[in-house]
Amino acid sequence: MGNLFKTAILLAALTCLVVLIGGAIGGQQGMLIAFVLAAGMNFASYWFSDRIVLSMYRARPVDEASAPGLYAVVRRLATRRICVSCQTNADPKATDRCLKCGGRLEQRADDNQDVVRERLNVYVRETKPVLEFYRERPTFRVVNGAQASDKVAQELDMMIDDAAAARA
Ligand SMILES: [Zn+2]
Repeated sequence: MGNLFKTAILLAALTCLVVLIGGAIGGQQGMLIAFVLAAGMNFASYWFSDRIVLSMYRARPVDEASAPGLYAVVRRLATRRICVSCQTNADPKATDRCLKCGGRLEQRADDNQDVVRERLNVYVRETKPVLEFYRERPTFRVVNGAQASDKVAQELDMMIDDAAAARA
């Protein structure tokens, strides 16, 4: 059964209930007042149910100060550019030309908001459980992947050396 149909049946049943209660309290006039009230409630629940659900879950808009990681990921994915000539990811410092070969930089057509959202969904569904599984282990380490790639490699090397020294 369609959700819209189920919603309509539910709202109709609630309207009947409200009108019956109105009738029990105030007779015909009570029924009329109750009907107007129910119509208003239906209107509100149909048009504002999204906001009602969001507030039930205490949803709130995030800004960069409260979710810097999320902002960084979305910005990184949405502003990424590819060199048309050598097909590598452009250095973020590059303006309009590739720093390696001087080729033209273009944003990939599929680096849009929907793709970013789907990547975040995949992260929550598939990557995050793995992260949570290993997080409690004593050998778990965190590397900031937003740094330059040589800095990331350097930190990884140091961690592997430390782990090897600890085992020896
Ligand atoms: Zn290039």
